[in-house]
Amino acid sequence: MRPHLALIEDDPDFALMCRSFLEREGFMVTWAMDARAGKSVLHEGGIDLAVLDLGLPDGSGLELLRALRSTSRLPVVVITGRGTEAERVAGLEIGADDYLVKPFSQRELVARIRAVLRRSQPPEAPVVLRVGSLRVDTGARQAASDDGWPIPLRPKEYALLELLAAAPGRVFSAEQLLERIWGAAWQQPATVVEHVYRLRGKLALLPSPAPRITTVRGYGYRLDP
Ligand code: CA
Repeated sequence: MRPHLALIEDDPDFALMCRSFLEREGFMVTWAMDARAGKSVLHEGGIDLAVLDLGLPDGSGLELLRALRSTSRLPVVVITGRGTEAERVAGLEIGADDYLVKPFSQRELVARIRAVLRRSQPPEAPVVLRVGSLRVDTGARQAASDDGWPIPLRPKEYALLELLAAAPGRVFSAEQLLERIWGAAWQQPATVVEHVYRLRGKLALLPSPAPRITTVRGYGYRLDP
């Protein structure tokens, strides 16, 4: 799965250069050029890590980080200009996972992002979950049919499917799913609805007996074999 990054940076030359490098390194990148756009990208969900420039034109990146941290554990790598040690320290105190001081090499940015992503995923013993014709390989973080056809999933879709497939028949509320998968109520319940909708479409392509996501009215969702 390609990790999805939010790049929140107001300098277009720098942002475009970072984006093309990161994409070549296998990341998906959504660029936001100010704090407002950054906030809305984070609200939309599906982001695995944010790269956040603290010097933004429409409000401090620190404010954005503080707001994010009040509701979410999303990994954040902060970027600061030179000579702003106070900002850097504040960023770490607020809960940035790492920081880089401009100028830095693209390689270094990639190395930091990978390290933070690794740290943010505690290793668990991988297993293969089986529900009907669905196989979920938690080690490879991949889902496939029992005859081996992979199901292309975005990272959050995968996370949602893994959670449901680990407990077929169990009902999860939208709030529980937000908490477990997005780490918070920073997201809107509509995020869950969208992800469930997309997952349903993908599960429908499985051979019979395909599991399906059932809506439990007034409560939430479960995966039925
Ligand atoms: Ca800036």
